[in-house]
Amino acid sequence: MTDSGGDLRDELARLGVDVVAAGLVVGSGGNLSVRAPGADTCLVTSSGAWLDRLRHSDFVRVRIGDGAPVDPDSGVAASSEVALHLHTYRTRPDVNAVVHLHPQSVLLLDALGERIRLTTTDHVYYVREVTRVGFHLPGSDDLARAAAAAVADGANCVVLAHHGCSVLGGTVDMAHKRVRNLEEAARLTYRALALGRADLPECPPDFAARLHLDRDISI
Ligand SMILES: [Zn+2]
Repeated sequence: MTDSGGDLRDELARLGVDVVAAGLVVGSGGNLSVRAPGADTCLVTSSGAWLDRLRHSDFVRVRIGDGAPVDPDSGVAASSEVALHLHTYRTRPDVNAVVHLHPQSVLLLDALGERIRLTTTDHVYYVREVTRVGFHLPGSDDLARAAAAAVADGANCVVLAHHGCSVLGGTVDMAHKRVRNLEEAARLTYRALALGRADLPECPPDFAARLHLDRDISI
């Protein structure tokens, strides 16, 4: 990653094309952000931007401390959900990418009170833990604070009830893989429930335990 912003915007643009194609968001829903490690600013997608059509001009650089745009004369406004990104960065110095999408299966299971089962090694490796927050108005400071509090202990996937999810990563690539696996785990859980198999076995706990012991494990 570079601090110039160019490479980071391209990384998010590629993520945007993929997550729209994968059905994790429709229309101009969702928003994305990234910061260079240690930077006091981040790049956030602009209000109304379609995630599969992102150009460099669809990103706004804002200060993480107070949310002010670095270039207030650009004529481009940051996403209405910018507070969600800022509160998360303030809470988690290790996070450099925040992906907010509206994944259908994740939201369906949450609305039904069903836990997302982590069935495969990929699910456990990338998702690890899913937290949730109750309903708050989209774009509100309440939502942003609740979502940040839900990941303060190190969780990287939080479901925002009746709205979407916020998925975090130390890199854009990790956040990308994580959100794809979150929705895949939800889809697999949904299929098991549709078959009447609420007893869907989860990935053996030995694997998760090994991840805690050996963070460099690869799959
Ligand atoms: Zn949203």
